[in-house]
Amino acid sequence: MNNKKRKIAIIGAGASGMMCAITAKKQNSELDITIFEKNDKMGKKILASGNGRCNIINTTFDETNYHAGDSLFVKKALEQFSFATFKKFCLDIGLVLDVKEDGRCYPLSNEAKSVVTLFSKALSEQGVQVRLEHDVGQIRHEKGVFFVDDEPFDTLVVSSGLGAASQLGSSEDGLDFARSFGHTVAPTFPALVGLELADATKRLFGVKMRAKVSLYIDGLFKEEAFDDILFTNYGISGFAILDISTAASYALSLGSSVYIEIDLLPQFDRNALFTLLRKVDGDLTGLLPAKLVDIVSSKSIKETTHNIQHLRFDVSATHGFDHAEASGGGVLTSQINPHTMESQKINDLYFAGEVLDVVGERGGYNFAFAWASGYNAGKSLAGEIIK
Ligand SMILES: Cc1cc2nc3c(=O)[nH]c(=O)nc-3n(C[C@H](O)[C@H](O)[C@H](O)COP(=O)(O)OP(=O)(O)OC[C@H]3O[C@@H](n4cnc5c(N)ncnc54)[C@H](O)[C@@H]3O)c2cc1C
Repeated sequence: MNNKKRKIAIIGAGASGMMCAITAKKQNSELDITIFEKNDKMGKKILASGNGRCNIINTTFDETNYHAGDSLFVKKALEQFSFATFKKFCLDIGLVLDVKEDGRCYPLSNEAKSVVTLFSKALSEQGVQVRLEHDVGQIRHEKGVFFVDDEPFDTLVVSSGLGAASQLGSSEDGLDFARSFGHTVAPTFPALVGLELADATKRLFGVKMRAKVSLYIDGLFKEEAFDDILFTNYGISGFAILDISTAASYALSLGSSVYIEIDLLPQFDRNALFTLLRKVDGDLTGLLPAKLVDIVSSKSIKETTHNIQHLRFDVSATHGFDHAEASGGGVLTSQINPHTMESQKINDLYFAGEVLDVVGERGGYNFAFAWASGYNAGKSLAGEIIK
């Protein structure tokens, strides 16, 4: 296929769209690429990520780090993109990574805005046109031509993300575009999000500690996490909760019953804790925050031991898309080629990033998939991958 002077439209200047455009132009400078972005600046989610520091990737990632309709798709999509690929890409645009011991990576500047500045600079150096404040409303496909709000293009990349954190411009428009092309969409659900608890927990508001959280779905153990928990005015949040929240949210979306059990002192096994409580005469003052002492204390030391290690709360809902870091569900990947991100239904139509039915764990995995899928699509646009 002759890719010269092909007009390419990319919807969304987020992580995946920017990566796609830069990769494509680097390999084939003849491409004519326009990115449409509804916000007044690019990469708003990158700016907000990692508390303004941007946990930009992890040194290791594979399909096991994702909740996806088809994990084989994720495996194949990640095959051509490693941490080394990303590190080199970053260095080429002037971005140096700070690799932490646990594998999480941040810009060495420790500022998310440096990521967006350098991606923007690379886009402008490569001659990619970026149309800010252009909220794409309509896409038509006639005789092999894509019309983006009536402007014709040969190729279309939908990298418009999903609905988490709508205050940053997120939308589910990409799903409408996908449906209009005959693609199937898996229902979306908030991921990496706080949980609302059915039991009144207002009296625990503000309590923060490290604990082990176990997730149960329809009465069966699903997974556990050990990290911070924080009781809020709506329920519970903190890193341990975010870590189990995607599975909890997915289960809630299916109508399953969901509860969590918190082990407040996981450093002790049952016998050790029982012995310790006997030693302090059941007085928990020196062991737990005061608000929790009230809740778990019982006259029987045996029962108190149990309460501390199995503090149970029914989960009624998640805290919702606006408070979520990501979205699960999305365009079904069985209809997408994982090596090129091209639709298997419509030639020259591509999808990249969160709009696909793939959502990652906390730790840089969502950006990892956005970069990887944008990279695959970009290479394919440049004609580097034989379809
Ligand atoms: C608060 C917060 C913190 C996060 N922190 C991290 C982190 O530290 N590490 C990590 O790996 N992940 C993190 N994430 C998740 C990560 O930001 C996303 O998974 C990632 O940005 C997805 O990239 P994307 O390109 O698919 O979509 P997005 O980054 O959402 O980009 C899509 C773009 O499309 C635009 N758009 C949508 N509809 C239209 C339309 N109709 N017309 C024109 N433009 C449109 C949007 O404005 C947006 O700019 C965080 C998310 C949030 C909300």
